[in-house]
Amino acid sequence: MVLTPSVPVTMPDAPRAWFGCLHCYNSGRLVGHWFDATDAADVDLAAVHTGSGVAWGRAGCEEILALDLDGEWPIRAEIDTVTAAKWAEVHDEVTPTLWPAFCTLARSEHITDPEDVDVRAFIDRYRGEWESWRDYVENLVDDLSLFDALPEDLRSYVDLDKYGRDLAHGYTVEPTGDGGVYAFEDS
Ligand SMILES: [Zn+2]
Repeated sequence: MVLTPSVPVTMPDAPRAWFGCLHCYNSGRLVGHWFDATDAADVDLAAVHTGSGVAWGRAGCEEILALDLDGEWPIRAEIDTVTAAKWAEVHDEVTPTLWPAFCTLARSEHITDPEDVDVRAFIDRYRGEWESWRDYVENLVDDLSLFDALPEDLRSYVDLDKYGRDLAHGYTVEPTGDGGVYAFEDS
């Protein structure tokens, strides 16, 4: 049993999509609405055309496409409702807390298909959010007591920057967009 914090009413990073009618769009009419990605599977032509006044049954409307995305997404491309719903499932599995880090890694590794996602592997690789790579290295050295075997007066000779540079070869380190970094150990 894993304890999870209660989910706040508003999740600023929760993925939302503006689903529009492609036929109307191509005819010069912006017809659509914002939907939560979790509801994407239920978005149909009726929902998209609500309030538009378009007689979509006769107008030749068929295809629904996300023409704009809001919140955090691993992709920037236009997507259909099925793909959006699959990303919403990944979002739930990853959890809202880890979602921004997950999206950052997915973008870095050019993952565009939710079917290609391995949530377990992502969680195994994730080493957290840090002020800097150096910050992570210092914490790792402390946690693992890496240099504790050295006599006190020799420890000051350890070049942590050099150690960090070598260590970084086994990691993917990406900016959080907030001044810090996400660290992922490469598998
Ligand atoms: Zn339409």
